Amino acid sequence: MEELKSLADLLDLQSVDLEIDRLLHERESLPELASFKETHQRLTAAGQQLEEARGGLRETTLAIDKTNGELEIAEEKLSQEQMRLYAGGLSARDADYLRREVEMLTRKKGEMEEEVLELMERGETQDSEVEAMVADVDELTAAKHNLETAITEAWKGIDGRLAGKEERKASVVPLIDEDLVELYEDLRKAKGGVGVGRLADGVCGGCHLRITEAEEIEVRREDPPRCIHCRRILVV
Ligand SMILES: [Zn+2]
Repeated sequence: MEELKSLADLLDLQSVDLEIDRLLHERESLPELASFKETHQRLTAAGQQLEEARGGLRETTLAIDKTNGELEIAEEKLSQEQMRLYAGGLSARDADYLRREVEMLTRKKGEMEEEVLELMERGETQDSEVEAMVADVDELTAAKHNLETAITEAWKGIDGRLAGKEERKASVVPLIDEDLVELYEDLRKAKGGVGVGRLADGVCGGCHLRITEAEEIEVRREDPPRCIHCRRILVV
């Protein structure tokens, strides 16, 4: 009689364990977790892209400064040479030399002005790219944060339910023979979480295979009774 009670409690334990398994599975497979992982990856990639784009923009800014500096020097030299040329009093040879020098400097100045313009255009493009990337990063950061909040909330709910089930399990386990619990746990590990079934209408509750009346007599002889097909504990 005592043993039968123990076996019935084992069925209780099995149902609590399945509920715990289901909650643990729910905890690990929240859809928000997959979204969180994806968002995290996208954010990492977007952050790297932004860093690269900022590096490119920095390079352009430095190049603008450098070319502007060179342009200033060239402009100064050009105006000095022009002054010398306009002041006159030079030999024809020197004046000719100076004229060519002025022409060369004027050409160089034009080229540098062109270069500065190109660099500034590039900088503007890079600047708006950086701006768009910052917006992306901000959006992904906010999405990641929202997902974190949703996951924390969902886990809190699941953990509360799990605590209730664990409490119930802790009250059932002491009612069952230790060896029986051990056998049940081993079977659960090996057989997809189900270690015990009820024999109802000649069918094993674990594997759902039929057990004939003759086989049932054999099953009942075992202590504890076990299914001849799947070897799970049977509550007969
Ligand atoms: Zn079975």
